[in-house]
Amino acid sequence: MGKIRARKTVRQYDVIVIGSGIGGLTSAALLAKAGKSLLVLEAHDRPGGYAHGFKRKKYHFDSGVHLISGCGPGGYNGGQVIYKTLQAIGVLDDIEFININPFSDAHYPGLKLSLPQNINDFITLLSKQFPKEAEGIKSLTELCLQLAEEIALAEEMMTEADYNAVQQLMPALYKYRKSTLAEVATKFITDPKLLAVFSTHWPYLGLPPSQVSFVYWSTMLMGYMVDGSYYCKGGFQQLANTLVKGLEDYKGEIRYRSKVDKIIIEDGRVVGVMVKGQQFNTNTVISNADFKQTVYNMVGEQYFPPRYLQRAKKMQHSLSIFVVYIATNIDIKAMGIAHESFCYQDYDHDKNYSRTQGGDISWISLTVPSLVDPELAPSGEHVMMLTTLLPYQATEQWKQQKPIIMQTMLDIAEKLIPGLKNHLLYIEGGSPDTMQRYTQNHQGSAYGWDVTPAQVGPARIQNQTPIQGLYFAGHWASPGGGVYGVSVSGVQATQKVLAVEKQSQLWAILK
Ligand SMILES: Cc1cc2nc3c(=O)[nH]c(=O)nc-3n(C[C@H](O)[C@H](O)[C@H](O)COP(=O)(O)OP(=O)(O)OC[C@H]3O[C@@H](n4cnc5c(N)ncnc54)[C@H](O)[C@@H]3O)c2cc1C
Repeated sequence: MGKIRARKTVRQYDVIVIGSGIGGLTSAALLAKAGKSLLVLEAHDRPGGYAHGFKRKKYHFDSGVHLISGCGPGGYNGGQVIYKTLQAIGVLDDIEFININPFSDAHYPGLKLSLPQNINDFITLLSKQFPKEAEGIKSLTELCLQLAEEIALAEEMMTEADYNAVQQLMPALYKYRKSTLAEVATKFITDPKLLAVFSTHWPYLGLPPSQVSFVYWSTMLMGYMVDGSYYCKGGFQQLANTLVKGLEDYKGEIRYRSKVDKIIIEDGRVVGVMVKGQQFNTNTVISNADFKQTVYNMVGEQYFPPRYLQRAKKMQHSLSIFVVYIATNIDIKAMGIAHESFCYQDYDHDKNYSRTQGGDISWISLTVPSLVDPELAPSGEHVMMLTTLLPYQATEQWKQQKPIIMQTMLDIAEKLIPGLKNHLLYIEGGSPDTMQRYTQNHQGSAYGWDVTPAQVGPARIQNQTPIQGLYFAGHWASPGGGVYGVSVSGVQATQKVLAVEKQSQLWAILK
């Protein structure tokens, strides 16, 4: 017989959040501000999930995140959710965001473009490069903006708008809700090279233009281009730390090295959670953890309606990521390298994605955060990340494969920065296995469920589950992945817990 651990009840909380990724922390801090007694339980020794940072020697690295949007005061109607959250919990002065413009460089065979943040500058730049397509570029980019604004309106209105009103008030959203980026873009532009450039940031959502939801794409692109592109001074760990500060300012608690083993259900409703034999009581749990882990390991599938599970079983999760963390003393500034450079050897992103799926590394993004935040490395030195998507199944022997993958990625980086290999002061690799180990995301998935048209909007796992008192916040739930997406998810979960229908009402309550 197995050893039975005694249950020791610690205390009752209004809300317990499992996981301190940005989605979980957003909900936790907002609910603490709303007056709820709050406990966050985090498996790792620090907050942030994929936004956490780590130090090696004299160098500060981000584990994953390079660039985010939504943290400035201005932008498109309905955006700025990170800014509004930090404002609501009173910590805007505790954090500094560095605006990045141009927000990235795109490198293709025979072509290099620095993509500007401003929508008109973006249209002008692409029109200059592809003059015959100028009209299409303008219409397509403006459609993306219209969609981003309609999405924000939809989040405000959905509960009260009827079907006809949706068609009338959100015509683009209604028309394109089932479309991919490629399906829509090719109605406006014809040159495959232009389609490639327009889709340069597809790795940010983990899917090529032929598969990614046009609606989700539009919110991502307009986020960076209109809401603004930002790096967080001190690294993205500071964003997590600042949300924790807001949480604690409102008497919320966070416990590290506290992996939740079980969510306790009695009479079909949540009554608490278990951590290493200790019971914490609550009627409301928000899981920021992996979907499968939550449903199958922490709750137990027997508590969910079969239809919910059948739907979830059909859903596809995103690829994982391989990152090479580098410190170097090569003079990157003098070489005119951008904060982030996407380096492709082929204009065909379907081909690029398909090679990625097969475990073949043909492209990278190269990020140098110390260019905008020199304090991340000693003077004259830089920290750099080489990133590519990869499936968890690419190998069964990540430890043995790591050096080979790192070498391949360095070879691609060397084309952009000749001599880099001779100027390495520190190098370390993070594989899909590493991603899974540090965040418990299934197979190291970088963005939760893929954001295909069939897995976004009402078709995504919603923030409220069929179990009374159980909610999701984070990239496995609505609306989707990326730091901005999970921040919105945290806000939506908060609204569900507080039964506040409109986002504008939530901000008014939390003033
Ligand atoms: C390498 C990489 C680079 C990326 N770059 C960007 C970028 O530049 N911009 C961008 O917007 N997005 C980026 N993303 C995506 C983005 O980081 C994620 O979509 C987002 O941060 C996920 O947040 P989340 O709230 O869902 O929680 P996660 O970050 O997934 O964190 C979940 C947390 O829950 C904890 N947890 C899990 N299970 C338990 C348990 N049982 N008990 C207690 N705690 C538990 C984990 O330890 C973890 O801290 C990147 C992702 C990766 C992997």
